[in-house]
Amino acid sequence: MTDFIIVGRGLSAGVLMHYCAAHNITFKVIGVHELSRSSLVAAGIWNPVVFKRMTKSWRAEEFTDELFRFYPEAERGMNTKIFHPRHIIRAFNQAQEVELWKKKAGDELDLFLDPEIYSDHGGLHGCMINGGYGIVKRAGNLDVRGFIAGTEEKYREHITEEVFDHSQLQLENDKVKYKQHLASDIVFCEGYRVSENPFFKWVPLNPAKGEILTITSDVETGGRIFNRNGFLLPVGDRKFRVGATFSWGEMTETETVAGGAELQAKTKAMISTNYEVVRQEAGIRPATLDLRPVVGQHPRFARLWVFNGLGAKGVMIAPFLAKNFVHFYLKKEPLVREADVKRYYHLYGG
Ligand SMILES: Cc1cc2nc3c(=O)[nH]c(=O)nc-3n(C[C@H](O)[C@H](O)[C@H](O)COP(=O)(O)OP(=O)(O)OC[C@H]3O[C@@H](n4cnc5c(N)ncnc54)[C@H](O)[C@@H]3O)c2cc1C
Repeated sequence: MTDFIIVGRGLSAGVLMHYCAAHNITFKVIGVHELSRSSLVAAGIWNPVVFKRMTKSWRAEEFTDELFRFYPEAERGMNTKIFHPRHIIRAFNQAQEVELWKKKAGDELDLFLDPEIYSDHGGLHGCMINGGYGIVKRAGNLDVRGFIAGTEEKYREHITEEVFDHSQLQLENDKVKYKQHLASDIVFCEGYRVSENPFFKWVPLNPAKGEILTITSDVETGGRIFNRNGFLLPVGDRKFRVGATFSWGEMTETETVAGGAELQAKTKAMISTNYEVVRQEAGIRPATLDLRPVVGQHPRFARLWVFNGLGAKGVMIAPFLAKNFVHFYLKKEPLVREADVKRYYHLYGG
C-alpha cells in the first residue's frame, strides 16, 4: 500500500512526484499522456510580470524563489537541460509604456524590471524594437516535455500507463482501492479533464484553449525571450516557439486555421526576417473562474484530493503549490487560502 495514487501525467503530476519523494510520501501514478495536451505543448515560460497591467504576478516573489530552488534540483539527475533562466525583452509600442515601465521599475516591480530603457540592437537581429525595449529579470522557461520525460524516467517503476476509470475506484474508511492498487489517499491531477471526474466535476473550470507555433528563422534574440503582444522563445537550432492564442468555450485540442492565422500575424508583428512554420499545436489550459489554482480535499470523501487549476502559469506556480500541498498533507502548514478548493465547496451537490 502507498500513501498516494496520483492520477495524471502532466506538469502538475510531475512536480508533485518530486515533492512527495522529497517528503517520503510513497506514491503510484496512473495516467496517459495524450488525454489532455496542455503540458505537452506549453512554451514553459515563467514571467513574474503581468504586461497587460504592468503589475506583479500573483505571489511572484515566493513562486520564483521556489522555482529557482526546485527545477535546478530536479534537473540534476536528468540527462537533459530543462531549466533555462533567461531575460524577457519587452518591446514597447507606445511612449506611455516607457513612462510606466520607469515608474514600476522604481517601486512595485523593482525586483523584476531592469530600470534601463534600451534601443540598441545588441544581440538582436530581425526583432521589431522601433519603440525601444525593457528587460524583465528572474524570468525564463522550462522545457516542460523534457521535465516530464526526465521525471518519469526517474520514477518509472511508480508509473502505470493506463486511462483512469473513476467507476472502479472504491472508497473505504482507511484507504482507497483502484484495481490492484491500494493507497491511503488519491490525488487527481487531470488538467481540464477534471470536468469528467465524477468526484470533482463541480470544480468550476474556465478552460482556455491555446495554440502555438514552432518556426525556423534567422531572427536573433541573443538567447532571450522576445515579447511584443506575443512571445518568441528560442529553443535552439534556429527554432522558436511563437504564441500563444487564448480562446474560451471550445473544448478540442485540435489546431485551427483561425489560430494559425492569429499566430502568423503575431509572428509578423515581432520579426522582420523570413520564417517557416514547422508545427502548429493546441492544448487546453486548466484555468479556473477566478484564475487561481484549486488544491485540497473533497468536501465529503476525505481521502480524495485535487491538484489542478494551474491555468496559463503552471511552470511558475506548481512548485510552490506542490510544496504547500505536501506540507498541508503532513499537517505542517495551512493551504494557501486563495488556492484552497474549499472556496468552491458550496458548488458541491453531494
Ligand atoms: C498553447 C499553450 C501554451 C502554454 N504556455 C505556457 C507557458 O509558457 N508557461 C506556463 O507556465 N504554462 C503554459 N501553458 C499552460 C500549462 O500547459 C499548464 O499550466 C500546465 O501544463 C497544466 O498542467 P496539468 O498537469 O495541470 O494539466 P495537463 O497538462 O492537462 O495534464 C493532465 C494529465 O492528466 C492526464 N489525464 C487526465 N485524465 C486522465 C484519465 N482519466 N486517465 C489517465 N490520464 C488522465 C492527461 O492525459 C495529462 O497527462 C500553456 C498552455 C498552452 C495550451
